[in-house]
Amino acid sequence: MNSVTVRVPAKVNLQLAVGPLRDDGYHDLVNVFHAVSIFDEVTATAETGMSVRVEGESADQVPEDAGNLAIQAALALARHAGRSYGVSLVIRKAIPVAGGMAGGSADAAAALVACNELWGLGLPVEDLMEIAADLGSDVPFALLGGTAVGTGRGERLTPLEVGGRFHWVFALADGGLSTARVYAECDRMREATGEEIVWPRAADPLLAALRRGDAKALGSELANDLQPAAVMLRRSLARTLEAGREQGAVGTLVSGSGPTCAFLAESETHADELALSLKAAGVARDVITAYGPVPGPTVV
Ligand code: ATP
Repeated sequence: MNSVTVRVPAKVNLQLAVGPLRDDGYHDLVNVFHAVSIFDEVTATAETGMSVRVEGESADQVPEDAGNLAIQAALALARHAGRSYGVSLVIRKAIPVAGGMAGGSADAAAALVACNELWGLGLPVEDLMEIAADLGSDVPFALLGGTAVGTGRGERLTPLEVGGRFHWVFALADGGLSTARVYAECDRMREATGEEIVWPRAADPLLAALRRGDAKALGSELANDLQPAAVMLRRSLARTLEAGREQGAVGTLVSGSGPTCAFLAESETHADELALSLKAAGVARDVITAYGPVPGPTVV
């Protein structure tokens, strides 16, 4: 086999509960991940050295050197296999860069699956999960897909039962937000307000709404502890979120560390209408519709 292409989805966090800051600098999280139908594609081709090229949505903001998470994933896999394999990776991006939709983690997961196939390693998903956890806390979910609750730093995953398809509208912002800065702002705001930090746990009504496939109930349970910090760093998000509420979204939230905003609709038609209204309101660089849950990385 000379070339393998893998399609990999973005994620939105339906609940992101941030616990106290730990001694190691991370927070204990409860993270309800949901994979949605915005896809990057990663093509791995047999090569002597290691290289990566990035095309598409905001490609100029993604490193094409060892800083690229997909290359780091390929190197980690080769190390795990104890061999010096080579690969040329081409990433076609549709997932907004630094948008809180885990695009880098998705590309890393896709590279693991593509190189496992290309190099004929046949490693089981458990091995890939271990490598994924070392690459970043969102990479294990990117390998799993669907809907799942993550605990710890987000890497201990339990898949969740979902009773239907949910329809989403995403408002993309100009420029990204650094995840590290958003967490630091969250800590700063909590300290300034003396807010009591409770131990994070998955919300039962949210899990029940997912099981029933009930968009209205899910909409009222969407929750992101990073949202106040993201809005503080990017004030225009308050207006974007407000526009979604005014236009009838059944749920609104900042996706992960932002600045992408996610709006839940009642149906596919409602999502299309909502997307048109948000475009007309001029509160985003671009507005796209998607649905979830979708499976994780798929060889195409
Ligand atoms: P998260 O939701 O996990 O916090 P994010 O969606 O906000 O992440 P990413 O798109 O993953 O952010 O990008 C974060 C940073 O990682 C960017 O600044 C980018 O330069 C860098 N990066 C490295 N490799 C990649 C990649 N393959 N795709 C996108 N960004 C990458």
